[in-house]
This record gives sequence, structure tokens and C-alpha cells, in this order.
Amino acid sequence: MALLLAVAMLTGGIFGHIGIWLFIAVSIYLVWNIVNLYRLERWLGRGRRFNSPTTTGVWGEICNHIYLLRRRERTRKRHLVQLLREIRNFTTAMPDGVIIMNHTGEIRWLNEAAGRLLHLRVPQDVGQRLPNLMRHPDFIRYLRDNHYDEPVSLVSPFSRTQHLTLRIVPYGLEQRLVLVRDTTRLRRLEEMRREFVANASHELRSPLTVMSGYLEAMHEDAQLMQDWRKPLEEMLHQAARMTAIVSDLLELSRLENEQHEAPYSPVDVPALIRRICEEALSLGCGPRDILLEVDEMLFLLGAEREIYSAFSNLLFNAMNYTPASGKVTLSWKQEGEAAQFTVSDTGIGIPAEHIPRLTERFYRVDKSRHRASGGTGLGLAIVKHVLQHHGASLAISSEPGRGSVFSCRFTRERVRREADKAGTG
Ligand code: ADP
Repeated sequence: MALLLAVAMLTGGIFGHIGIWLFIAVSIYLVWNIVNLYRLERWLGRGRRFNSPTTTGVWGEICNHIYLLRRRERTRKRHLVQLLREIRNFTTAMPDGVIIMNHTGEIRWLNEAAGRLLHLRVPQDVGQRLPNLMRHPDFIRYLRDNHYDEPVSLVSPFSRTQHLTLRIVPYGLEQRLVLVRDTTRLRRLEEMRREFVANASHELRSPLTVMSGYLEAMHEDAQLMQDWRKPLEEMLHQAARMTAIVSDLLELSRLENEQHEAPYSPVDVPALIRRICEEALSLGCGPRDILLEVDEMLFLLGAEREIYSAFSNLLFNAMNYTPASGKVTLSWKQEGEAAQFTVSDTGIGIPAEHIPRLTERFYRVDKSRHRASGGTGLGLAIVKHVLQHHGASLAISSEPGRGSVFSCRFTRERVRREADKAGTG
């Protein structure tokens, strides 16, 4: 442009009419720009198959930049396509189902396994809401509750013999990934384990009863007792322990086999507590009395036998692990809309690292401790199952040397005020 202007001014200076020469120079520059703009537009419009228009000056620079940008873009696109292809291949090969769902529950994408496990069709079901297609009440509740730390296990709504586990993983902006796994085999193995424990315990019960009967008879024989007192007493004690273990194992398998939640039968908890306290005081261990804070009007809706089993296990433990000089307090009260049963003691306590594992079967904090207490190691596992069966939760806090607090919290649906009884008839 500068060169053109200089030439125009020079020519105008020599031949006169400088204005006209300048006008001609500017027009030439304008035409050149228009031509380049047209070539650039044609090149961009035709796509990458055509080489960039070779031109000089600023237009050459622009074309070069665009060419490099397009080349970079092309390479990136190729990588992305390759990556997408790999993701599609691996999700297709995956035995587990994967569904991508948006915040309204609409299916955005799913793999083959998800289609097979949940009977979903592609592309017909893409864009449909998953809860409309997978109408299982447990899944709908899981989806609605927004607590996705644990998966939900259910019987497939399409086949009664198939068990599925679904897990929701939230990601991005309210997107959700649904992972579906066929757990039929795992469930079968679990059932086999449960059946084996139940059968073995059942089979052990009769021989144990016979042995205990003979041992008791021998224990009453004065002559035998003279020579055999110690071994006989030890045998009787061990037979009683084995009977307690077998009976706890049977109770646990019964609770585990229970598919449905506990019934909603009224349980007179204050009366139940009085009964348990009498039994606890007759154990012959722990403090001489139990401090009670009981709401006499507070009833529960549940299975009385199971509630008895859970509450008595907690109280018997408190008595077992608290010295006679200590204190055991039992409280049964309403907390907001929930009801809470709490046993606190000033006993030996439990170190923090053991607390999360206490409800495992046969888990003991201290082996020597349990031999002295004579427990079965199944008490808290039973408590956990009973509470699960009632939709309730167990909270444990403890400090070694200072005591422990075990609380069972029952939700509003399980609570009944005795005064309500008269009102509802
Ligand atoms: P056990 O029949 O051995 O008492 P549980 O399942 O009832 O079995 O309890 C598991 C373990 O938890 C016990 O062995 C004991 O170490 C500990 N434990 C339970 N309750 C208490 C308590 N109130 N104070 C101290 N330790 C306790």
C-alpha cells in the first residue's frame, strides 16, 4: 500500500493530477483485497481437500495461520474419533451395564449390557426417562433419595431368578452414570453359605441337647461328682456356650432369610424393658441396679421377638462389660419424630479402631475379655440385623476405661404413642 501510494505520488508529481493517481492507487489496492477475500472465502468453503490460495503479504500470513489452525484441528479430531471408538469398543465389551442419564433422569446413552440387563432398546429408549422404564420401587426410592454411597440390590423386574445391583455415580453438571451388574451368581453363593450355616447349626442342636442331658445327669450323681467335679462342670459350661452359639447362629440365619421388612405390630416397649431389666439383673454380673429413663407412652411398631433380642443383647453386654461398682443407664424416649433406645455404661469401653467392626460375626475386641464374659460374639450382629429389618440405625460411641453408649434410632413410621391407640381405636 505504501509502495503504491509512493508510486502514485511520484507519477502525479511528474505528470500532474496527483489526486487521480492516488485514486487509481487506492482502487488497485482495494481490488487486490477483494480478490484475495474472494479466494479465501472459496478456499474456506471448499474444505480441507484444497490447498490454501498462495498469496503474498498480509493475506499470505492470514492463509498460513488458518491452514495451520485447520491442520491442528484435524489432528485433534482424529484423536477424539479414535478415543471415542475405543470407549465404545470397551463399553460394548464390558459385562456390566452403563447408562448415562441427565438430571431429569432421561437416558442419554447406554451400552449393550445395560440394554440386555434392563431390557432397554436403542435408539427407541434413548431420551426416555429411566424411572419410567425401570419401574422397580426400590430403584425409584434409591434414585429419589439422592444417597448414592451404597448400591441398591434388587430382583430383576424382568426375571424373578435374576438379581441386579445398580449403582448411581453423579458426575459433571448433574449428570449421572448408572452402573448395572448381574449379581445372580454372587447371590446364589451367599444363599448357599446361609443355608449351610443354618443346616449345620440345626444338625448340631440335637446332639448337643443329648450331650447336655447326659452331662446334667452326671452332674447330679454325687459319687461321680466326687471324682469328676471340675471336668464335669467345665463340660457343662462349654456345652451351654455351644448351645448359646448354635441358637444365636440360628437366630441370625432366620433374620438373614427374612426377605420382607419387619411387621408393624404394636410392641409395648416399656413392659419389654421391665422384663429385660429383670433378666439382666439376674445374670449375676455388672451393677446391682439399672437406672431407667423410660417414656411409658412410647410404643414401637415391629416384631416383638426381634426387638426383645436386640435390646436384651445390648443391655446384657452393658452388664457383662461393666464392673459392679459401675453404672448402667437405659433410656427409651422420643427424639423429634424418632424414638431412641439407648444403653450407656461406665464399663471398660472400646478402643475407637474396633467400633466400625463390632457388628461383624464373632468379632471380639479382646479375646481374653470374651472368655471371661462368656458371650457368643454374635450379639451385635443380631442387633444390626434386627435394626436393619426395622429400618432403624445403630450408633456406637465409646471411650476405653470410661464406658460405652449404644443407641438404636427408629424412624417416625415405627413410632406409636400409646395415647394414639385410644384416638385411632
Ligand atoms: P459378645 O457375645 O462377645 O459380647 P457381641 O457381638 O455382643 O459379642 O459384642 C462384640 C464385642 O463388642 C464384645 O466381644 C465386646 O468386646 C464388645 N462390646 C460389646 N458391648 C460392649 C460394652 N457395652 N462395653 C464394652 N465392650 C463391649
